[in-house]
Amino acid sequence: MDRTILHCDCNGFYASVECILSPELKNVPMAVCGNPENRHGIILAKNELAKKYNVQTAETIWEAKKKCPDLVLVPPHHDEYKKYSRIVNQIYERYTDKVEPFGIDESWLDVTEKSTEPMQYPLVQQSIIALV
Ligand SMILES: [Mg+2]
Repeated sequence: MDRTILHCDCNGFYASVECILSPELKNVPMAVCGNPENRHGIILAKNELAKKYNVQTAETIWEAKKKCPDLVLVPPHHDEYKKYSRIVNQIYERYTDKVEPFGIDESWLDVTEKSTEPMQYPLVQQSIIALV
């Protein structure tokens, strides 16, 4: 039997969590980055406003600041990302009991048993957006 598998990937996950923790960060171009003092000083994630300046994940802070001088830099909070990753997966579990997390912001959802019903996949997306 063919199986129906959804791949769910949160965009800018670290940055989205930071915007939940500090809502004022939604209103400024912001990126989560490693320590600027050492070699881990790269962009790990960026919010929507930073995307407008073409700030890219994995580029150096120096490159990002050249494109967006007012870019607000935020250090990562990995414990919070783990917490929100669990919350996101709990939302997926409303749609199927077969959820396989893959990394912190991606999951595979086996919705084979649901797929005979007229399942509305956008509902999953809307639930996540409502959370953020
Ligand atoms: Mg992602």
